[in-house]
Amino acid sequence: MAFVSSGYNPDKPMEDRITDIGNHYYGDFLPPVIKNNFGKWLWHEILEPGVLMHKAESGDEVYTIRCGTPRLASVEYVREICDIADKHCDGYVRWTTRNNVEFMVDSKDKVEPLKKDIESRKYDDGGSYKFPIGGTGAGLTNIIHTQGWIHCHTPATDASGPVKVVLDELFEEFQNMRLPAQLRISLACCLNMCGAVHCSDIAILGYHRKPPMIDDAWLDNLCEIPLAVAACPTAAIKPKKKEIISERTGEKIEVKSVEINEPRCMFCGNCYTMCASLPLADAEGDGIVLMAGGKVSNRITPPEFSKVVVAFIPNETPRWPTLAKTIRQIVEAYSKNAKKYERLGDWATRIGWEKFFEVCDLEFSHHLIDDFRDPAYYTWRQTTNFKFTKNTPTEYSAMKVE
Ligand code: SF4
Ligand code: SF4
Repeated sequence: MAFVSSGYNPDKPMEDRITDIGNHYYGDFLPPVIKNNFGKWLWHEILEPGVLMHKAESGDEVYTIRCGTPRLASVEYVREICDIADKHCDGYVRWTTRNNVEFMVDSKDKVEPLKKDIESRKYDDGGSYKFPIGGTGAGLTNIIHTQGWIHCHTPATDASGPVKVVLDELFEEFQNMRLPAQLRISLACCLNMCGAVHCSDIAILGYHRKPPMIDDAWLDNLCEIPLAVAACPTAAIKPKKKEIISERTGEKIEVKSVEINEPRCMFCGNCYTMCASLPLADAEGDGIVLMAGGKVSNRITPPEFSKVVVAFIPNETPRWPTLAKTIRQIVEAYSKNAKKYERLGDWATRIGWEKFFEVCDLEFSHHLIDDFRDPAYYTWRQTTNFKFTKNTPTEYSAMKVE
């Protein structure tokens, strides 16, 4: 009865329910023209790179200008977005899943002033756009990425750094629609993959190559050992008592610690999430794996997983030149050779993955051949047949099976 006296009616539990848990209902934030035509859109077209027009049954039109954002945004940057939205879009603005910001207006005559305003906003130091317009149609979409060194604890590479470099390298492809089809590039700074790299045309994946180091002296003080053991997806960790020399007294002491079965470790960093005494970041061991050919779209061919095409690129801070050059090579080869509407993976499958390495001038190595355990069923190497091309190093041609 206490519930009833406080206004709760068990027969109608949802009545007048007020909650601050979770997001507000998105419908409350729709611009009026979107709300009025919700679910009644007829078609849309891309008027020019970065500018879309949606037509409703009622005859209403919505014009959208899409701008790439750096994803990790400062308060000043968000305030400036809000200023633009207040000035041109009655205070409405939206973000897309690829970290674009979209400004929408309800008539064509509002498009040019909005566009001019957006294009006039540049950074003082290099004159680069704060809100570059583009990312639509058969071009490069904004690169989605994860947290990187600025925030997360397990990255094997940075996120914002390499993404900035790659977008600098391919900026014209973001502003234009001259590729065979849409090109999606993503980055995840470790293989936990907050960044959708498993299904991107080109995926940049941070990869550790060494198992965690074990700080025996502190482990039992900083961690719950059972949690660290349970965190390992490959069951590589087990508890172990060890004898160490005490840093404090210089005496031999027995401590509770863990042992790692290194051949089982896949360098995922999950244990470090649970236990700060198991760090695995390493300047030489960490770097980038490039994957290619994934997509989510069902158009023409079914969705595909990305496949490893470059097994390792070191972290060459601050401008990652090898990474930028390699991605440029792949994009240029794709742009020159693929047919219209063909996504990167469709093109590679049509010409053959062996040929893909040759056309993109990427070295083929044995790291790129799957073994015949489970994963081979989901990736590109499901057969012992292999076509040698000029990009297969000769030592593989001469390799003997022992
Ligand atoms: Fe952290 Fe890995 Fe996600 Fe990057 S991908 S933010 S390192 S969990
Ligand atoms: Fe296990 Fe991952 Fe830690 Fe390796 S890095 S020991 S696989 S949790």
